[in-house]
Amino acid sequence: MLINTGVPTREQIERRLPSPERRARGPYAMVECFQEIPCNPCSTSCPFDAILPMGDINEIPMIDHDRCTGCGVCASVCPGLAIFIIDESVGDGTASVTIPYEFRPLPEKGETVRAVNREGCVIGDAIVTRVLLSKKTKTPLVTIRVSDGLVHEVRFFNLIDDKAVSDATSLKRKEEPITVDSACASDDDEIILCRCEGITLRTIRDLIREGYTTVDEIKRISRAGMGACQARTCGPLIAAEIARMTGQPISEIQPSAHRAPVKPMPIEFFLGGDSE
Ligand code: SF4
Ligand code: SF4
Repeated sequence: MLINTGVPTREQIERRLPSPERRARGPYAMVECFQEIPCNPCSTSCPFDAILPMGDINEIPMIDHDRCTGCGVCASVCPGLAIFIIDESVGDGTASVTIPYEFRPLPEKGETVRAVNREGCVIGDAIVTRVLLSKKTKTPLVTIRVSDGLVHEVRFFNLIDDKAVSDATSLKRKEEPITVDSACASDDDEIILCRCEGITLRTIRDLIREGYTTVDEIKRISRAGMGACQARTCGPLIAAEIARMTGQPISEIQPSAHRAPVKPMPIEFFLGGDSE
């Protein structure tokens, strides 16, 4: 479940995909925003009105793919990094994914990188085909080319030391099936798990090894979950890591304590209905 894992289900993803005809026609935005949160820059910034107006800022964004040109404006303004531009129209066995990328250094065009799926596991190689810096939003958009069978799985990439440039024909899925554990065990310690406070997975794992095995303990000692998002993202991830490392079922890991209000509310609510 998304709330426990931070990863949408296959069904949730498929419901967001445009028709096969639209997918074959050219680039389109894939909006992977599934929770009601007070946020709407995707809708207000689309120059083609392709993301439908939200009457209530908490609404989940809905897209009209017939209006979408795949321009990428929405992907560069989305603070949740939840929008990707997909292009499956090339027809040579590869497809491209444009990813909002907030890390440094930026990759260079032509560089080979490791394609990473929604769970954070490396699933193949990719070639960077474009790096677009927007002065206005400052969130760069990096387009990578992958084999077309991976385009609905790849949502991030890792830089690799070897800057060798591969030919597009070398884009192949790894032969061995990769499980979350084996694929992630090698180099995922540096993943930033709590983005608001900049806490890495290594810190969380070290704390669990030291005996801090509840989400609340880890929150108090590391500040993970005390930032602006109030543990909406990192809380379930920390719980999943505790479950994995201690061998407990995820259902037995208590979420962190929350004080009211436990979800974003309009200021009008606190003013007793007086919108003034
Ligand atoms: S990619 Fe461009 S046209 Fe499509 S929804 Fe985003 S901003 Fe609108
Ligand atoms: S800008 Fe991003 S996070 Fe905000 S509603 Fe749109 S898709 Fe969701």
